[in-house]
Amino acid sequence: MNIHEYQGKEILRKYGVTVPNGKVAFTVEEAVEAAKELGTQVCVVKAQIHAGGRGKAGGVKVAKNLEEVRTYASEILGKTLVTHQTGPEGKEVKRLLIEEGCDIKKEYYVGLVLDRATSRVVLMGSEEGGTEIEEVAANTPEKIFKEEIDPVLGLMPYQARRLAFNINIPKELVNQAVKFMTSLYNAYIEKDCSIAEINPLVVTGDGKVIALDAKLNFDANSLYRQKDVLEYRDLEEEDPKEIEASKYDLSYIALDGNIGCMVNGAGLAMATMDIVKHYGGEPANFLDVGGGATAEKVTEAFKIILSDPNVKGIFVNIFGGIMKCDVIAEGVVEAAKQVGLSIPLVVRLEGTNVDLGKKILSESGLDITAAESMADGAQKIVSLVK
Ligand code: ADP
Ligand code: MG
Repeated sequence: MNIHEYQGKEILRKYGVTVPNGKVAFTVEEAVEAAKELGTQVCVVKAQIHAGGRGKAGGVKVAKNLEEVRTYASEILGKTLVTHQTGPEGKEVKRLLIEEGCDIKKEYYVGLVLDRATSRVVLMGSEEGGTEIEEVAANTPEKIFKEEIDPVLGLMPYQARRLAFNINIPKELVNQAVKFMTSLYNAYIEKDCSIAEINPLVVTGDGKVIALDAKLNFDANSLYRQKDVLEYRDLEEEDPKEIEASKYDLSYIALDGNIGCMVNGAGLAMATMDIVKHYGGEPANFLDVGGGATAEKVTEAFKIILSDPNVKGIFVNIFGGIMKCDVIAEGVVEAAKQVGLSIPLVVRLEGTNVDLGKKILSESGLDITAAESMADGAQKIVSLVK
């Protein structure tokens, strides 16, 4: 789960990470009020969306007086920001962070992320802060330094010190940087983060080490024990199809292709996406309806797939083990009738009650293309949408 920058900074502040003073604002008036309360010479007006790259897209503006705060706030609020992380459709700005202006001497990058290959948290740093770290990684990988953290020992002071030296934090500020990284690590572990990225971490003119940006991501599997984090969830930032799917306990992830996939089992769902791609198609989603799905759940899944305007065909690929083929068939027929299905539908059924399932489909009067195997089904749906 993702949260906004201002929320991330609230959490980090509690753990002793230095962040600038700031306030969230939902309207232009609130933005001006917030700037008055901050009372600093310079304020920064920052768009709050669940995506980075806001600066380059015009979502971060430095205001030198209250009038400028008003101007920028009204420009940015309600604007659809298109950044390299939002996709071409962009994201509408509904919240602003009004923050005290910071006298930046130099920008760095510091981040914590789980390395799945080593099953360990890795502390990463670079003196090329402020820019896209992906570009640094691609063009000058030698400028990124890493410290692998032992889960029993935690981040050791010598590791934080070594990283600080490697990224050329000024000598007199290394101790501050070590405290910063240690606090960031404590927040990461205690709050069950999957990413904690500070880009930029800055060194200021008066010798402080501050987090100017904060991107925190949380492991959704541990939200049951992170109630305060869950309160930060902003449903408006999430894909409505994914929210709908979570209500029915369906594992659904929206993708940008045009072939809707309905599958049982996460492994089979991934294999289905692979085979669709193998035959030259593009999946519109990942969807695992689960083992014990009811006809109602299948109907809802079908509706969610169809609510995506990009979907030009559907491939149902079911291996009936716990899930029975007749239940899937009933759900498919029910949903197709309810929504008035008008796009190609290819169904591959195998396993428990497969004959009954096929019978339900063939007697439904719906235009369904039956597939003999997974490969057969994938080829059929790919050629039907083309
Ligand atoms: P994004 O990563 O989405 O572009 P950032 O929060 O990193 O957004 O802001 C982009 C840039 O704006 C920063 O690299 C920094 O140079 C500048 N900036 C951000 N916040 C402040 C601030 N409080 N004071 C001064 N400059 C800031
Ligand atoms: Mg940033």
